[in-house]
Amino acid sequence: MSITPDQQAEIDALRATPRPTLRAVSEGMEKHLYTAIPVLDHGFIRVIDYMGDDAAITQAARVSYGKGTKAVQNDEGLIRYLMRHWHSTPFEMCEVKFHVKLPVFVARQWIRHRTANVNEYSARYSILDREFYIPEPDKLAAQSTVNNQGRGAVLQGEEAARVLEMLKADAGRSYDHYEEMLSQDGQDGLARELARMNLPANIYTQWYWKIDLHNLFHFLRLRADAHAQYEIRAYADAMCGVTKDWVPAAYAAFEDYRMGGVNLSAKGLECVKRMLAGEAVTQETSGMSKGEWREFEGMLGR
Ligand SMILES: Cc1cc2nc3c(=O)[nH]c(=O)nc-3n(C[C@H](O)[C@H](O)[C@H](O)COP(=O)(O)OP(=O)(O)OC[C@H]3O[C@@H](n4cnc5c(N)ncnc54)[C@H](O)[C@@H]3O)c2cc1C
Repeated sequence: MSITPDQQAEIDALRATPRPTLRAVSEGMEKHLYTAIPVLDHGFIRVIDYMGDDAAITQAARVSYGKGTKAVQNDEGLIRYLMRHWHSTPFEMCEVKFHVKLPVFVARQWIRHRTANVNEYSARYSILDREFYIPEPDKLAAQSTVNNQGRGAVLQGEEAARVLEMLKADAGRSYDHYEEMLSQDGQDGLARELARMNLPANIYTQWYWKIDLHNLFHFLRLRADAHAQYEIRAYADAMCGVTKDWVPAAYAAFEDYRMGGVNLSAKGLECVKRMLAGEAVTQETSGMSKGEWREFEGMLGR
């Protein structure tokens, strides 16, 4: 992981000066504050700041329900109720700010999540580091034959060596030219904002990324999912670990209802009812397309 000495010094200084506070504190999150969690070969996530905890969610919910919440006495039950019924605004009372270092092609997927606040490293202002994401051998895979948007068998032997060599050589050559093109060392060269355009998409960038818990769960639901590309999933998985420590009750409800749960269509629900009544439902009698039926059977673990 490529935390720079300056960043490490900043982390050490911040961790060395704890202050008492009247604000809500999540003990699980305190241990993550400022500490960088490595992701991929040069990336990381680290929590810069956060607001709220499980109690902040129920505190906000009780404002809207008032005496009605007496029916749900404990916080965990109330959080599960909110998650189950898509009452999402109480989850927006919690916020988290991450510092993330990630390859540009991952950032391009990540930035599609519009509900966060982002501030990115400026390659107009600063010179990018010579750091590229080069996949581990077990992540170098061929195009999937069944999924147009995914990868299939892991490359072996000479083929793995061939593509790895190309990835490394192209990245190195592009960076050499980037450096040679820059307006520095007494040459006119190109401005940083122009010289960067020949850099490959596996170069690393960094940003601060702030989001509320409701929208973080939405991000994690999509990006920690098995269908998400491995490289962004690696970041989402690391964030899942942090979120679990930060708001354990909310995360447990999220795991149960969102990550581990499924959405059934009306047709799907009807099929389940017919199956429970003893009928041998098939794709042909289900009213579903072949693709839908395949996913439905996968959902049922058949
Ligand atoms: C497996 C996978 C494959 C994908 N493949 C592609 C692809 O091939 N091409 C591609 O372009 N994208 C692709 N995406 C990106 C995807 O289409 C979404 O853009 C991305 O997941 C962000 O989702 P979102 O808009 O729900 O999130 P956010 O931007 O965080 O928004 C959260 C929610 O807020 C609301 N919202 C936010 N902004 C608006 C708005 N302006 N108008 C209306 N409602 C809004 C919506 O309800 C939205 O669901 C893929 C995503 C995944 C997970």
